[in-house]
Amino acid sequence: MNLKFLMVLAFFSGIFVQAMDPADSLRTHPVKPFVIVLDAGHGGGDPGNLGSGLKEKVIALAVTKEVGKLLGQHRDVQVIYTRDDDTFVKLNDRARIANDAKADLFVSIHCNSVGTPRAHGIETFVLGLNRMNTNLQVVKNENSVILLEENYQETYAGFDPNDPASFATTHLVAEESLEESINAAVMVQQNLTNRTKFRDRGVKEGNLAVLRLSYMPSILIEIGFLTNPKEAKFLKTKNGQKITAQAIYSALYDYIKNRDSNSSVIEPQKNPVEVENDVTFKVQISASSRDLSTDPSNFNGLQEVSKEKNGVIIRYFAGDTDDYSKIKQIQKMAIDAGFDGAFIVAFKNGEKVDLAQVINAG
Ligand SMILES: [Zn+2]
Repeated sequence: MNLKFLMVLAFFSGIFVQAMDPADSLRTHPVKPFVIVLDAGHGGGDPGNLGSGLKEKVIALAVTKEVGKLLGQHRDVQVIYTRDDDTFVKLNDRARIANDAKADLFVSIHCNSVGTPRAHGIETFVLGLNRMNTNLQVVKNENSVILLEENYQETYAGFDPNDPASFATTHLVAEESLEESINAAVMVQQNLTNRTKFRDRGVKEGNLAVLRLSYMPSILIEIGFLTNPKEAKFLKTKNGQKITAQAIYSALYDYIKNRDSNSSVIEPQKNPVEVENDVTFKVQISASSRDLSTDPSNFNGLQEVSKEKNGVIIRYFAGDTDDYSKIKQIQKMAIDAGFDGAFIVAFKNGEKVDLAQVINAG
């Protein structure tokens, strides 16, 4: 989502709210709903993995539909499925459904498998920017469906699903979109591992075709290993599927809400802005898997760039100050330098906190 668009959106929604009775504004909120595409992995002639005698396509569909049912209860969310029954949908058609709908988020749900019953846990993928894959097996499993499609050589332009290294990332992912993907992935991963008590295998990068082909922030969740007897036993039950879906749903809805509240404080009305104690600000200019030196020449001349590594993702910041008006200036400098999506991040005692919570936006 483009930051400028969000600012315009926040501006117009502000006017609407002022012009109407507060109760009315809640009922007839003019902001367009958040469009989320839910993608149940595999389907039809492609069963996915068959760990423990189960079918990945069946479990993925059950969990996906439950997530959609819960999200669909909110009027500010529009749910679109790539499939809501046992049909085969090509990977590029899944992405096209999301692109055509101008979705705000694409969420693909799968179950993991590997040759040993010992491997277990949950992992969530964002599209990698590296050609080097951190998890070749998952990339192979989830991309291999392409081989079932007719004319796959033409559709996927020379991409060999059995050789993920051949899958060059020609489509440059917007840094902002990656950042949003990471945010959503981290929230889902944390909530899902908390609720299921499954091992946290982390947020990872993968060159997954279905993520690469969709333009918006996109994540792929591996909700557990069907090849692990304990996780298979949990995931095949209605109750296990419900717990999993509930955890994914509440993380996604938090993500949607959090995103709204961030956009609404981009331009605080009150001047000077009141800031809590022990709060510092930085401007996040990009997030990437590439580990760059913070030399200004790498950042269009921006001075004093710092970086922070979190798993495979490195976030780059400009500025470090407790003065909110100064960080606003740095944000403007960053945008002028070409980092259109640059946004302010707040830290309290070194921990990242929600900007809305630490400044009085008036
Ligand atoms: Zn799968």
